[in-house]
Amino acid sequence: MNKIPPFDLSEQFKLIGDTINSAVLEVLVSGRYIGGPLVEQFEQQLASYIGTSDCVACNSGTDALYLALRAYDIKPGDEVITTPFTFVATAEVINAVGAKPVFVDIEPHTFNLNLDQVEAAITERTRAVIPVHLFGLPVDMTRLMAIAQAHNLLIVEDCAQATGAEWAGNKVGSIGQIGCFSFYPTKNLGACGDGGAITTSDPAIRDRLRRLRDHGRRGAYYYEELGVNSRLDAVQAAILQIKLRHLDTWNQQRREVANRYSQLLSHIPGLVLPQEISGSKSVWNQYTIRLTQTSAEAFRDNLRTKLQEKGVVSMVYYPMPLHLQPAYQELGYQPGQLPESERAAREVLSLPMFPELTAEQQEHVAYSLKDCLS
Ligand SMILES: *Cc1c(COP(=O)(O)O)cnc(C)c1O
Repeated sequence: MNKIPPFDLSEQFKLIGDTINSAVLEVLVSGRYIGGPLVEQFEQQLASYIGTSDCVACNSGTDALYLALRAYDIKPGDEVITTPFTFVATAEVINAVGAKPVFVDIEPHTFNLNLDQVEAAITERTRAVIPVHLFGLPVDMTRLMAIAQAHNLLIVEDCAQATGAEWAGNKVGSIGQIGCFSFYPTKNLGACGDGGAITTSDPAIRDRLRRLRDHGRRGAYYYEELGVNSRLDAVQAAILQIKLRHLDTWNQQRREVANRYSQLLSHIPGLVLPQEISGSKSVWNQYTIRLTQTSAEAFRDNLRTKLQEKGVVSMVYYPMPLHLQPAYQELGYQPGQLPESERAAREVLSLPMFPELTAEQQEHVAYSLKDCLS
């Protein structure tokens, strides 16, 4: 069996490559590379897919989060609660606007924010919460929105790994006040480069986001406030329009891959398999298991090497929670303080996951895991 990579974008390109080639060529011929109708069309298509009135495209998921915080005036002296078990960008943007990240622990069965702990961490300085729908699985947004309402907090959804995921029948990114998306190539809706977008149903926030992503510009050369350069270019917008049409099919294929893994792996002792929770519809950006035999990272490293020898390339998202990163030393967190995040960092293993993964490849992954663990 050939090597099974963690993700494989070339399969997707075989399906839509011709369409993409001609759309990209059209943009190149048009001579209009930044902004323009293709970007505006894509913004409208994504807003209507997610279920908001508006969408503002930008340069990356990181910028989407940053611009969202700027648009709501999150500033020095404010606290923003989030998870330490996520990609660094989620928390980095809190520092970027001068506010303070407050990390709370996760739930072991979802890897998502523990909402009891969110509630307990609220102070009079708390302005916002950034829930991350990690690996494609939504946070319990019904309960989070109730907490937010009771304490007058802003909810900025980090939907980078969850484009198309649903909570109680609504798409993530339409439930909090503002939703942030990444089109990094390995996300469920990926561009052929960097890209991001923000969803909102507040026209005043939409207008401010449009200014902030374009240097704060209002009119030709008039600046009410300073922003950044964070635009989506027309080539990426053309590609994203094509891919958005396939997103539901690809997400459904991921769901089938996840179900098949769960069947194949259910009898292997020492593994905890990921599950959806009631009310949620995951889009399975990752299929992430836990290894419970031991908490030693050496065991996992060794397993990954043995799997690699059998052609199965696994990944670890994320090996060190953010509260223990050197970059966050100044916040003063100690090892043991957020134990579920720390345990997850030691135990998780993400298996190859992409829509085109075949049953045969998955059987090989399951067989290899069983073999390596016995
Ligand atoms: C990918 C990702 C981001 C950042 O997106 P970029 O487009 O890479 O800037 C933010 N948060 C999470 C949870 C992500 O997975």
